[in-house]
Amino acid sequence: TVDSSRPALTLLIAAPRGFCAGVDRAIEIVERALAKYGAPVYVRHEIVHNRFVVNTLKAKGAVFVEELDEVPDDAPVVFSAHGVPKSVPAEAQRREMLYLDATCPLVSKVHRQAERLIEKDKHILFIGHAGHPEVIGTMGQVPEGSMTLVETVEDVANLPFTEHDELSFLTQTTLSVDDTGKIVAALKERFPQIVAPRAEDICYATSNRQEAVKRIAPASDLVLVIGAPNSSNSLRLVEVAERLGTDARLIQRASDIQREWFEGVGTLGLTAGASAPETLVREVIARISQWREIDEQPVTTAEEKMVFKLPRELAE
Ligand code: SF4
Repeated sequence: TVDSSRPALTLLIAAPRGFCAGVDRAIEIVERALAKYGAPVYVRHEIVHNRFVVNTLKAKGAVFVEELDEVPDDAPVVFSAHGVPKSVPAEAQRREMLYLDATCPLVSKVHRQAERLIEKDKHILFIGHAGHPEVIGTMGQVPEGSMTLVETVEDVANLPFTEHDELSFLTQTTLSVDDTGKIVAALKERFPQIVAPRAEDICYATSNRQEAVKRIAPASDLVLVIGAPNSSNSLRLVEVAERLGTDARLIQRASDIQREWFEGVGTLGLTAGASAPETLVREVIARISQWREIDEQPVTTAEEKMVFKLPRELAE
């Protein structure tokens, strides 16, 4: 029941939020593959880190697996937006499989940079989070031992290199802009010779979503971020709000929300990670409006017009 004795809840809704161009493209690749080849279409790893998206595609005939050896030779397979090590398409070719690569073009760009740095005999320090599929994919672009993962400023001090080594660095696309800046500064201080990427590897969607949270968080009593616990860019949005001193919670769906959270909350900030669909944002707002009147105020910090081309096989 709506509590009409209380003032309306001010809802600061961040824009941009939710789907980025890479996620849109990855989902469309699976949908078009299903339309073109018929079910089942296999997908190696969650196409994007969102259970709702995965379940929707499953219902249409996509089959999600973790490794290529779970896919029959004669079924089409899509590689997720996070990218894959080179060994994966190589294995698919060896088995003469039909595969479609949904790696975000901005991740592929980092892959190509990595290859070029190796050609120039540079050792690569890769700033990222251990175990994330994008990190596994990017490290799998270069010969073993030619890339070292750096996760924190403290890691920089422990690197077994000197100012005479041929070093370069690259980054994961979905990192905290602020933390990465600090790690890069530490790298440049310890290794003045280090070769930096020509342009920032943190993608436009990640930095825009963090910027929008920076705008809403200081004015909010609580920030909700819609996203999955394994979604790197969503976790970073929670951190951004918390560092500004605002309570923040990661939620997957409206059913995660508890009414008590809104006791004493006059202004609520709301955003969604790059892999969370707008349907979930509307679902969350609908749920809260069962309890409180809502005064929805969009806070826009950037316009996004990015669209990525589909693979040739699926473009009309
Ligand atoms: Fe691509 Fe960035 Fe979206 Fe990841 S978050 S899919 S790198 S646009």
